[in-house]
Amino acid sequence: MKQVSFFPGPSRVYAKVPEFLLDAYTEGYMSVNHRSGTFMELVENTKDMLREKLLVPADYEIIFLSSATECWEVIAQSLTQKNSAHFYSGSFGQKWYETASKITETIAMPFDTEQPAPVKELPAASVLCFTQNETSNASQVDQQLLKDVRKRFDGLIAVDTTSSMAGIRLDFTLADIWYASVQKCFGIPAGMAVMFLSPKAVQVAEKIGERGHYNSVLNALDHWRKNQAPYTPNVLDIYLLYRTQKASKGIEAVEKKVLARHADWEAFFENFGEFGLIPENPEVRSKTVLAVQCPNPQEIIEKAAELDITLGKGYGAWRDSTFRIANFPAIKKKEIVRLQKFLRMFC
Ligand SMILES: *Cc1c(COP(=O)(O)O)cnc(C)c1O
Repeated sequence: MKQVSFFPGPSRVYAKVPEFLLDAYTEGYMSVNHRSGTFMELVENTKDMLREKLLVPADYEIIFLSSATECWEVIAQSLTQKNSAHFYSGSFGQKWYETASKITETIAMPFDTEQPAPVKELPAASVLCFTQNETSNASQVDQQLLKDVRKRFDGLIAVDTTSSMAGIRLDFTLADIWYASVQKCFGIPAGMAVMFLSPKAVQVAEKIGERGHYNSVLNALDHWRKNQAPYTPNVLDIYLLYRTQKASKGIEAVEKKVLARHADWEAFFENFGEFGLIPENPEVRSKTVLAVQCPNPQEIIEKAAELDITLGKGYGAWRDSTFRIANFPAIKKKEIVRLQKFLRMFC
């Protein structure tokens, strides 16, 4: 049977990707020179498309990087004046903290998966770091919390939205640095990340003046502002990003679909034998990734694989007690129906 993937990254790509790949080949994008007019036009169109479809504010800069992991380094290198404080309840937020700690001064703000981030008293830091969607344990930081923090903090706020950007609507005015790699909600193959920077973030980068790395923010801005690249970039991913976003109905429509499916999954797992969603607190539950707690997740994952259904393994501390299901927009309705039919065998 046809392979279906609910892996939360790299994940199912949009069904139109094969067609776009053929177009990329036919139209010459696979071998286009990244100093050519064709490339510059593609970059300009892609940035415009991101602004239009994801509602990125006009005064935010857009740069392209190669992964979310690279974004962690870049923020520590180029955007952190003194120190960064990291709120995290799972593996990705913790890895961000560990990566930053090798480069700059950091403050760890770990918190319980079932609770909102502890922001009552904010640490004295130049940058506050949040993982909006913690892919490892399917928890999320509500944007209302970011709104509250924004009012009380005048440093920079950085938000990892690797597994939520292009899946749910994000209010970019609530923070200064937003980034995501493209192999999750964007529904295209891995190998690139996008980063959005507020005017304040750009000012801070200029004040710090870091130019010692090929991926310094100032070097990136010098190039991407002119629709050029500081190195030979992943032109194919830029092209696929452009085509998939152009085909998108916009983030409001995408979010509507994602939220409706999420509600459907919640109803599905209600009174479902020994299965249950974590976090149990719906307030902090991710909309784009589900973690299902059950007695023997390994067995479920293996049996699903026999039927060509790929599920996500548990991650980090939740490795042996959960499996994960991506609720990314590229997944088809009929694929969800197939997975639910399979899961009903265990109830
Ligand atoms: C997947 C993921 C990352 C890592 O992305 P890479 O593209 O592999 O660097 C970082 N943060 C979160 C929240 C993720 O889900």
